[in-house]
Amino acid sequence: MPTYVYRCDDACGDFTQRHPMADIPDAASCPECGHDARRVIGSPALGVGDSPAMRLHDATRSTADSPTVVTSVPGQRRKITRVSSNPLHRKLPRP
Ligand SMILES: [Zn+2]
Repeated sequence: MPTYVYRCDDACGDFTQRHPMADIPDAASCPECGHDARRVIGSPALGVGDSPAMRLHDATRSTADSPTVVTSVPGQRRKITRVSSNPLHRKLPRP
């Protein structure tokens, strides 16, 4: 059931109620003062399908269903490639 926002006319503020989509009342009683409150029409809280945040959310959700397969043993020694060609750098201490 979706959540709908209602606003009390007596400055009580907004409150939310859940109703089935087939039976949405235009007014509801305020939980604080009991007066009628009108329904506020706002934008739906839907995610944008192609935004980076939505893609990250989809990728994160897919890892739970189908985790990536490891193709190599972790911790294997990698081939060391020389970064510098300066001969003085060879004299520096090694980790
Ligand atoms: Zn009220």
